[in-house]
Amino acid sequence: MTSKTPITVARGDGIGPEIMDATLKIMEAAGAQLDIQEIVIGKEIYESGQSKNGITDESWKSLSDTRIFLKAPITTPQGGGFKSLNVTIRKTLGLYANVRPCVSYAPFIETMHPDMDLVIIRENEEDLYGGIEYRQSQDVMASLKLISRPGTERIVRYAFEYARANGRKKVTCMTKDNIMKISDGLFHRVFNEIGEEYPDIEQDHMIIDIGTAKVASNPGMFDVVVLPNLYGDIVSDVAAEVTGSVGLGGSSNVGDNFAMFEAVHGSAPDIAGQGIANPSGLLLGAVMMLVHIGQGDVAAKIHNAWLKTIEDGIHTGEIYNPKLSSAKVGTDGMREAIIERLGQKPSTLHVVDYSGVPAGGMKLPPIRPRVEQKKERIGVDIGLNWDGTPDELAAKIRPCINDNLDLAMISNRGTKVWPEGNPETFCVDNWRLRFVSKDDTPIKTSQVIALMDRLNKADLNFTKSVMLNNFDGVPGFTVAQGE
Ligand code: NAD
Repeated sequence: MTSKTPITVARGDGIGPEIMDATLKIMEAAGAQLDIQEIVIGKEIYESGQSKNGITDESWKSLSDTRIFLKAPITTPQGGGFKSLNVTIRKTLGLYANVRPCVSYAPFIETMHPDMDLVIIRENEEDLYGGIEYRQSQDVMASLKLISRPGTERIVRYAFEYARANGRKKVTCMTKDNIMKISDGLFHRVFNEIGEEYPDIEQDHMIIDIGTAKVASNPGMFDVVVLPNLYGDIVSDVAAEVTGSVGLGGSSNVGDNFAMFEAVHGSAPDIAGQGIANPSGLLLGAVMMLVHIGQGDVAAKIHNAWLKTIEDGIHTGEIYNPKLSSAKVGTDGMREAIIERLGQKPSTLHVVDYSGVPAGGMKLPPIRPRVEQKKERIGVDIGLNWDGTPDELAAKIRPCINDNLDLAMISNRGTKVWPEGNPETFCVDNWRLRFVSKDDTPIKTSQVIALMDRLNKADLNFTKSVMLNNFDGVPGFTVAQGE
């Protein structure tokens, strides 16, 4: 008899408790060997004021003890000072890869794309989910998008290793590097570099807008798709919905030492407490967990019973179709139908078998050592608030410049407005001044500080400064539109 694996479970908010109850009962009936530690996270913790993050120290302790987390969806308060607990957990536990398989179950569940069987691999820690935002002026709000080389290398390698381990043939990367040439450009470049180590896997890149459209209209052309965080979030909901319902998708969040398993969907407050939620997404997340902890036989037993239930037409309301379904059930009815079919296999849909899958997830090689490049500071961008015209601003700045610095450009919302700006360009109250070295010699920090001091004395109150560096002679900054 297998010894029991300790796991942490959170029943979550909204439909969370209903679908978690069904999931736990199905796992128990299938013979899963689990030592369950329950924690309370989310809305109750936010509202009781116990923790602004929605999770207590005791719960963190359970997570660091078990390192395996089965989590029902939680409600994230919108606005206010609350940070998303989901993002906090993913980042705190280093869960860098979010794996979301999206499969069609035609002809048993209605879908326009019966040939769909793709896996989204979403980077889970970086990008705009750093939540680093500023109000820069009366008019302008800004979010910081961060993409790192090691973070990108890990997720891209994970995607290629996942493809190899799961008999997948192709990995597609999606970015918007025609616009975000430095951040998304790095993601694309690292995809190409790491891809060279996987000549057995077909690989391609698509711009995210057309890529998303193709996932919606022709998902059969994809196999494994690897994306930065925000695009991955959006594309995986599109993909899950295209399979028939967002309620069908399970997902794993994996890191080097921790793993979290959940449904793709949220807490669905609109149907909470009605007993009609589909437990399938969380159940399929639990199946991924059982594979991860080395109980692949139980995982396969549950997954096959679930496929048989779907084949038998036993469907929850959101996928029920009188032409295809034999019974419309609620959460409990679905649970009972799956439990009755434990030990059975589907006859049309693919039977699953996890017997050869190693426990503990994939082990990736170490991140490549950094190749240091020569960094030279050749200028500085300074942001400030201003309510006049670009020419007036330039005239006020000019007396503040000396040494080898020159005012190269003023931009507003990323578009050059001085020198020779177009009077038609709409300007708001936050401006960027670009100062660069006149003679290509590097500039010193003390020069920047002296410049800012003079701007300050001229009543030009800056909001931020960003150094402009070349790396091995290649600019580490973009030009403004029109520059
Ligand atoms: P949602 O996924 O909760 O719901 C979207 C739609 O899908 C709703 O109409 C809902 O009724 C339906 N739906 C979702 N799951 C279903 C299921 N299992 N069975 C049947 N129908 C289902 O998205 P939302 O309404 O945008 O978000 C609600 C809350 O969930 C928000 O607070 C959000 O922050 C949170 N959320 C949490 C997670 C998570 O915990 N991982 C993920 C996404 C959203």
